Amino acid sequence: MANIVSREIRLKSHPIGMPDESDFELVEVTIPEPKTGEVLVRNIYMSVDPYMRGGMRNAKLSKTLEGGCVGQIVKSNSDRFQVGDYVLGMLGWREFYVSPAKGMTKIDPTIAPIQSFLGTVGMPGRTAYVGLLDIGQPKEGETVFVSAAAGAVGSIACQISKIKGCHVVGSTGSDQKVNWLLEKARVDVAFNYKQANNLEDELRQHCPDGIDIYFENVGGEHLEAAISLMNVFGRIILCGMISQYNETAPQPGPKNLISAIGKRLKLQGFIVSDHTDRVSDFYGDMRQWINEGMIKWEETIIEGLENAPQAFIGLFKGENMGKMTVKIGP
Ligand code: NDP
Repeated sequence: MANIVSREIRLKSHPIGMPDESDFELVEVTIPEPKTGEVLVRNIYMSVDPYMRGGMRNAKLSKTLEGGCVGQIVKSNSDRFQVGDYVLGMLGWREFYVSPAKGMTKIDPTIAPIQSFLGTVGMPGRTAYVGLLDIGQPKEGETVFVSAAAGAVGSIACQISKIKGCHVVGSTGSDQKVNWLLEKARVDVAFNYKQANNLEDELRQHCPDGIDIYFENVGGEHLEAAISLMNVFGRIILCGMISQYNETAPQPGPKNLISAIGKRLKLQGFIVSDHTDRVSDFYGDMRQWINEGMIKWEETIIEGLENAPQAFIGLFKGENMGKMTVKIGP
């Protein structure tokens, strides 16, 4: 096979504050032949995720960025994969790559379309599943508040909460997303936090019985408002705090944290990759819920590897409905 030339995206400078497209560069590299035990993969989709912003603070410059991707095996020197298999890998931000077959996962396209393995049936969906069920431990009739509710993680956290019989309140940043949450995700209440004069007052209006579980994706004012309305023995699932990822200095914590003592709140952070023991439960439940029409999702697909930086930056501007994904090739 003639040498393949592949385009890749590297970090050119460490972003300060909101990342800029000039922080990234597109380069061409020649892909080597796969050795014994290795495979050559053509990427079709890649993921951009908020967590990548943290890695960019101290990342080695001029090294190709990495992240979740779905591709197809073009050449296999491993008995684990056949040419044509769809695989999930961690070498996104590039068109082609050679990798040891170990550590790559074959995708079962009967569960969902292949790109959804980067979203609803992938890492973000699993984050919602583990965070809500294992940390939140929802009970029927409880009130669950989810921030960034129309995003990849939030939209699934909302719907699993509904499946568990909870009263679900979601906050999000546009009226279009509010409508989607009400009509498709079938949450009980959704509101546009950008239109609220006072977030705590707005939330109080939507949670007349208080909040039992807060699925935290945003931080800052959202966390403070939720703490004020938490019920005794409430659980706060500390999943992410996207409002702070582009801050150049650490932000002060919620000024009402002291009330967590009297209310006996549990605040627990988690990282989804620590919970691989739940992968098969997750696939089993998601397959069933999807087949029963109980989980709906959106994907915002940006075309072209060269537009991946723009897609990534868009996460911090609320430009995505559901999972932000980049289509790299056919
Ligand atoms: P989303 O699909 O939710 O995309 C990000 C969304 O965040 C935007 O669309 C926007 O929605 C909202 N947002 C962006 N900036 C702000 C801001 N300043 N204030 C309020 N909202 C903002 O991303 P993910 O679903 O992938 O991630 C959601 C959260 O989960 C993130 O905090 C992420 O870091 C975290 N996470 C944690 C994991 C873990 O293992 N702990 C694993 C995966 C994700 P809107 O229009 O509604 O404002």
